[in-house]
Amino acid sequence: MPAQVDLHLHTTASDGRLTPPELVRLLARNGLQFVAITDHDSTEGLAAAQEEALAHPGLEVIPGVELGADIPEGDVHILGYFLDIGSEELQATLLRFREGRDLRARRMVERLAEVGLSVEWRRVEELAQGGAIARPHVALALVERGYVSTLQEAFDKYLGRSGPAYVGRSKLSPEDAIRLVLRFGGLPVLAHPARYVENVHSHLPSFTKAGLVGMEVYYKDYTVEEVAWLQRLCHRYDLIPCGGSDYHANGSADEVAPGSVGPPPASIARLKALLP
Ligand code: AMP
Ligand code: MN
Ligand code: MN
Ligand code: MN
Repeated sequence: MPAQVDLHLHTTASDGRLTPPELVRLLARNGLQFVAITDHDSTEGLAAAQEEALAHPGLEVIPGVELGADIPEGDVHILGYFLDIGSEELQATLLRFREGRDLRARRMVERLAEVGLSVEWRRVEELAQGGAIARPHVALALVERGYVSTLQEAFDKYLGRSGPAYVGRSKLSPEDAIRLVLRFGGLPVLAHPARYVENVHSHLPSFTKAGLVGMEVYYKDYTVEEVAWLQRLCHRYDLIPCGGSDYHANGSADEVAPGSVGPPPASIARLKALLP
């Protein structure tokens, strides 16, 4: 049976390649019941997604966001669901994060020039279509120029954490990201544990103390063993099992169809039970 829930999806409001209505139409066709749009540092895609969802009764679009945090060992991403996206203070905070992304991507383009790869900043901006700029936009520009043949190769050779064009950005601690989601009425959930950081589970006591309520157990490329291990961690730390496809529509090698992976609908009920 295909999943009915997918709580991790990107649109052109960040590094996804489908507009919010295009994505919602695809999800409706795939028979999804609950989906969350979780763009990086942006909720700008939600209004259009929710408007399109009106044409598809039976499909609920949950407001979400994905925040980038880090620890010395690597990136940690925190998803926030059901935030008060009408909050001016939240929107000002997200705008500040997006401005940081813009500056950082400009510096990455400069670094690329220093190693002899000429990518036009204007093209990176065009590829971002007004959404939050992320490394995949720079990677796409590198593919277009023929410097690499895949996004993965762009990350492996240039844009990854130890690559010559990598530029960090001032990020929050995961605990601060969790508290930020809570401050705006949202439910904080750890994204793709063990994807960028091996020992992320050793941080769970601190994350749960800060207010984490869930963790992604179901994720595009997790094995049966990983899912079982993450389920056990959820039991141990009393976290709600969440997850999704992390769909970007960018054709990267590990991409799976939107709606093909996610938690059981019971997780939605558990999340909603925490809302005021
Ligand atoms: P940023 O938020 O600008 O640091 O970019 C992070 C985004 O890059 C992630 O959300 C993924 O969409 C993408 N990404 C990270 N690592 C890779 C990779 N190895 N190959 C392709 N895309 C990646
Ligand atoms: Mn992304
Ligand atoms: Mn992520
Ligand atoms: Mn994501």
